Amino acid sequence: MKIVMLGAPGAGKGTQAEKIAAEYGLPHISTGDIFRKNIKEGTDLGKEAKGYMDAGKLVPDELTVRMLLDRVSGDDCRGGYILDGFPRTIPQAEALDGELKKLGEDIDFAIDVEVPDENIVKRMSGRRACPKCGATYHLEFIPPKKEGICDECGAELTIRDDDKPETVKKRLDVYHDQTQPLIEFYEKKGVLHTVDGTADVSDVFEAIKNILK
Ligand code: ADP
Ligand code: AMP
Repeated sequence: MKIVMLGAPGAGKGTQAEKIAAEYGLPHISTGDIFRKNIKEGTDLGKEAKGYMDAGKLVPDELTVRMLLDRVSGDDCRGGYILDGFPRTIPQAEALDGELKKLGEDIDFAIDVEVPDENIVKRMSGRRACPKCGATYHLEFIPPKKEGICDECGAELTIRDDDKPETVKKRLDVYHDQTQPLIEFYEKKGVLHTVDGTADVSDVFEAIKNILK
């Protein structure tokens, strides 16, 4: 089963992808997480991506597509995967499709997590992330058991560099301009499903499970 998560930055794609991954035993592939890992490790890819990310822009397609195709060619992806944050542009979606076609495969589900822009800024300003295991929390909506500490691995939670309000605004503009057209792209392929992302995390997950049944 191959799943693409669509939705604005902060809509809850990562939160839901994590739950789908655990429920269905599929790898959760977040291009944002892969870039952040590269930045932390100081790789060339990380150095190149950082400027774009901090400015709220997209990392160029060429770089992103190469990295993603390499990741999905891994043995652990044979039974499918959940893509979170990829594709973000039509050329990225076409590149993925082209690669899948060669294998006689296709995306099975594109799940659009719908959240209005008004809610997004609040979501992102309260987001706290674990730099070690990638778990995501929200100060108000999904707080960790112990303030500032990851429930999963005990590491200290951090604020993402690109979650500053000015950058969030830019990222939303980029989303509407470059990523939203993917909704129509997947609708035309007949695999688009929409869920109300303003509901509680568990209710959103129930809706997704009903789609994947
Ligand atoms: P994305 O991967 O789409 O950027 P995240 O999964 O990181 O979004 O979620 C953004 C923020 O909103 C996080 O702080 C997360 O804990 C919180 N969040 C996610 N889903 C919900 C929800 N259904 N209700 C309230 N807050 C949520
Ligand atoms: P995310 O963690 O999905 O919110 O992504 C954080 C940032 O990483 C984005 O704002 C982009 O700068 C970059 N990024 C992640 N995925 C992609 C992608 N598919 N294409 C281009 N840039 C990406």
